[in-house]
Amino acid sequence: MTKEIWFDMDGTIANLYAVENWLADLRAENVRPYAEALPMLNFSLFARLLNRLQADGWKIGIISWTAKNGSEAYNLAVEMAKRAWLAKHLPSVEWDEIKVVRYGTNKKEACGGGILFDDEEGNRNTWGQGAYAPQDIVEILKGLRG
Ligand SMILES: [Mg+2]
Repeated sequence: MTKEIWFDMDGTIANLYAVENWLADLRAENVRPYAEALPMLNFSLFARLLNRLQADGWKIGIISWTAKNGSEAYNLAVEMAKRAWLAKHLPSVEWDEIKVVRYGTNKKEACGGGILFDDEEGNRNTWGQGAYAPQDIVEILKGLRG
């Protein structure tokens, strides 16, 4: 199997949908909800697991969509906000790749393969084998350490 692990952000590691007025702000092309979203799991544990898996030869990446119907300028601002969020909340993690792609992009085609964690069932179904829901992140990552 490809030793790659990909993480969605919104609803998977970043609690965007719990930010008040998130949808109205995204429609108004404001990046505030992306910046203010809180981590969805214990990030000190998460960072430690990621660092160890990288040492074991796993590549780790982010595959995240921009906002639905976002303009080019807003999509770029969203990418910057997401990169800043990762640097702020997971400072010890050196991602092998961070892909912030247009809303609706086929994640399997964008990443190629490996493991995907994503809160959207449609993305998991398109990915096929190796796709998991966010609540399985810690258990699966611990299991990969062997
Ligand atoms: Mg998501």
